[in-house]
Amino acid sequence: MGRSTFQQRRLCGRLLDHGQMQISYEHCGETQTSDLTRLSSGPLRCEHCDELIMAVDVSATAEWIESQVDRKRHLLETGQLGTRKQSTQQTDSDIDRDGLSAELAACAILCPNAFVSWTRAAERSKGNRGRDLLRTWTGLNRPVEVKHTRYQDDHRGFLVIRPPRNTPGRMRAEYIDDAYYVLMTGEPFRHKLVGWIDRAGLLAEGQLNPVPVGHSQRESWGIHWSKLRPIDELARKIGQGGLVGSFGRWFEDHFGG
Ligand SMILES: [Zn+2]
Repeated sequence: MGRSTFQQRRLCGRLLDHGQMQISYEHCGETQTSDLTRLSSGPLRCEHCDELIMAVDVSATAEWIESQVDRKRHLLETGQLGTRKQSTQQTDSDIDRDGLSAELAACAILCPNAFVSWTRAAERSKGNRGRDLLRTWTGLNRPVEVKHTRYQDDHRGFLVIRPPRNTPGRMRAEYIDDAYYVLMTGEPFRHKLVGWIDRAGLLAEGQLNPVPVGHSQRESWGIHWSKLRPIDELARKIGQGGLVGSFGRWFEDHFGG
């Protein structure tokens, strides 16, 4: 283990220990703040009216996010990670910062109780694909796959799935996981959870190449944000099946696909 990794571990530990991992959100006419290391089971709700919170500000976690962006830059520079650039407008570090900030916000909204486990997993990640939110974390019967776009208007804001690395050829239906896909919008460090869709919905209502395929880019499959399902529908699926359901989720997380 290199010295820089050790220093980053220590830095992350310090941030988590001292309660600097906070999020804030507006609801019922006031700004509410939650300490992410001390939240009980999710999803995140307003402390006054109990409504689901859909938009959060995670700027208090910026130092931790930057430490992970630096770690990925080091992995890229030493050849342990390939480039994720899909356009010439964003650097790999921009992509990492956007993705991590949006995933952190999704975890804070859907499974705040699992936040510390999520950060530990993110600190170990060498992968290119987004981190799943595990079934045991969310209480859902499928993993949650977080997608992010900065935009949300009439023409832009697609939930996009690209082929895994090291696969040949065209986009294929089997590259779409049996997961709940959720779309986050916004820029670091303010994000909104727009909606969700499952594999069947994506196959039925999605389209090939919703965003143009540029030179040396792969095909993709995606769906416009306006066609996604509302989040309270997903929230109602949480915790189904009682104790048997909990065991099933744990089993699937550890031994399932
Ligand atoms: Zn409220």
